[in-house]
Amino acid sequence: MKFADLHLHTLFSDGTFTPEELVLHAQKSGLSCIALTDHDTVEGCERAAAACAKAGMVFISGAELTAEHHDTEVHIIGYFLDTANRHLLERIGQFQTVRQNRIREMVAALNKLGVPLQAEAVFALANCKSPGRPHVARALVKEKLIGNLDEAFERYLKKGRPAWVPKTKMSALEGIELIHQAGGLAVMAHPGLNRTDDIIPDLVAVGLDGIECFHTKHSTVMSERYLEIAEKYNLLVTGGSDCHGFSKNKPLIGTVRVPFMYVEKLLAAKKHLDERRAATAAN
Ligand code: AMP
Ligand code: FE
Ligand code: FE
Ligand code: ZN
Repeated sequence: MKFADLHLHTLFSDGTFTPEELVLHAQKSGLSCIALTDHDTVEGCERAAAACAKAGMVFISGAELTAEHHDTEVHIIGYFLDTANRHLLERIGQFQTVRQNRIREMVAALNKLGVPLQAEAVFALANCKSPGRPHVARALVKEKLIGNLDEAFERYLKKGRPAWVPKTKMSALEGIELIHQAGGLAVMAHPGLNRTDDIIPDLVAVGLDGIECFHTKHSTVMSERYLEIAEKYNLLVTGGSDCHGFSKNKPLIGTVRVPFMYVEKLLAAKKHLDERRAATAAN
């Protein structure tokens, strides 16, 4: 049996592995295919693709976009993105700036609480264009301003906590269109984590292609429910570990194993999309 892990992060966003390290871990866990889905960036895709080619693995380029629909936060993954697409790069570039400004706002809130963290310490540690709350948490631990990462989220960074800062997000409709115009397929990430069930019909109506049924934070019952929803709306099925590096001494990569049959369906859908686009361009 061949398996895939289709939700993975590297140090180009809030993961800790390089693309090469990620592929090495994928190989070690016997995966045949991975997709890279960093937050608001596709920078790691070229290196991950090269490492996968060397390792004889199938690679799917991707990114995870933070979006919203009627005040509900929803993460939308674009698979098979053209990583040189100008409009995509321009738009995610703007959201990288939003992320960088938000780091400064979170640090200012921490300073107000008497926590002497400096934004520069967070940026130095993050060393990427798409920083996020995990970098603030890691900087707090590094500077010995908090005991551990969980505590940092619980005390300061979780939604509603004193250093939490809302993030400007694109609309889910825009996210889906942005992915499509870059040649990608749009998939709703971890619906069980964001509680986005209610908005599934709306997003299907505007072109959502798939739904992440298998995820580290989905119970078996949840996965089964989303498989039923996928069938009901004729959506593609994906899944992944959402590995961000080592977690409790072990990387999550490979702990969610998606049967290759679903990758084949994704590949077929991508082929179909390309054919439709070629036909439209010819007319
Ligand atoms: P951001 O995109 O900056 O809002 O940060 C969201 C990221 O923070 C997620 O992708 C996770 O990697 C991480 N995260 C969110 N909530 C927690 C939590 N309670 N504990 C640890 N990490 C978290
Ligand atoms: Fe993350
Ligand atoms: Fe997510
Ligand atoms: Zn993720």
